[in-house]
Amino acid sequence: MIPENLSAIRARIQQACLQTGRAPETVHLLAVSKTKPASAVAAALRAGQHDFGENYLQDALPKIAQHPAATWHFIGQIQSNKTKDIASHFDVVHGLASEKVARRLNDARPIGRPPLKVFIQVNLVNESAKNGVAPSALPCLVTAVKDCQNLQIIGLMAMPPATFDLAGRHRFFNELAELRNQIKDDFDLPYFQELSMGMSDDLETAIACGATWVRVGTAIFGARQSQQEA
Ligand SMILES: *Cc1c(COP(=O)(O)O)cnc(C)c1O
Repeated sequence: MIPENLSAIRARIQQACLQTGRAPETVHLLAVSKTKPASAVAAALRAGQHDFGENYLQDALPKIAQHPAATWHFIGQIQSNKTKDIASHFDVVHGLASEKVARRLNDARPIGRPPLKVFIQVNLVNESAKNGVAPSALPCLVTAVKDCQNLQIIGLMAMPPATFDLAGRHRFFNELAELRNQIKDDFDLPYFQELSMGMSDDLETAIACGATWVRVGTAIFGARQSQQEA
C-alpha cells in the first residue's frame, strides 16, 4: 500500500505543478511517519522516499537509529528540554518559534555536523492555541537566528486552522508566501526560499501558492490511532 500511496501523492504533486506552471522538482514531499513503525519508514525508503517528518521525540529516535541515511525533519512543537536531542538527531526543524529555542538548538548542534536547517513557524491568525511567532515579531526572530552559526534559516512554515475552507487556505498560503518574500528582501538570506505548507487535503492549493515542502502523513501511511495524535 505505501508504494502505491506514494505514487498517488507524487502524481498529485506533478499535476498541481503542471496546472500552475511550476517545475515539479521545486516541490518536495515530506512523508510524515509520526506514530508509524520503522517498518513503514523502510517500505517508503524502498519506494524512493527520502525525507521523513516526526512530531514526537521518543517515537522518532528508534526510527532514526534504524534509518540514519534518511533525512529527518522535526515538525512538532519544540520544547526547551528537548532541544539537545532534536539538534543531535534531526537534519531539519519546521516549528522554530522562539529566540530561546533557537539559541538552545544552536548550542546543542554537535560539532562536525552541517548546520541544522530551520523553518520559522508563523502564526498568521493569532490563535492562542497554535504554535508560531506573530508576523510582527518575525523580523526580530530572524535577526536572532541569523546570528546562530549552527543554524541555517531556510524558510517559513504555517498551518491553517482546520476550519478554513479552500478559499480561506488559499488566502492563508498566499499571505505566508508574501511574508517569505518580504523577509527574503529585507534580510540578506541566500537560502531563505522554502515554504513548508500544505498537507494531505490541501496540497494542490499550497502548491498553487508557492509551497516547496508539502507534509503528508495519512495519505501515505494510513490513519493514525486518535489517542496518539496531538
Ligand atoms: C501530522 C502532521 C502532518 C500530516 O498530517 P496528515 O493529515 O496525516 O497528512 C503535517 N504537518 C504537521 C505539522 C503534522 O503534525
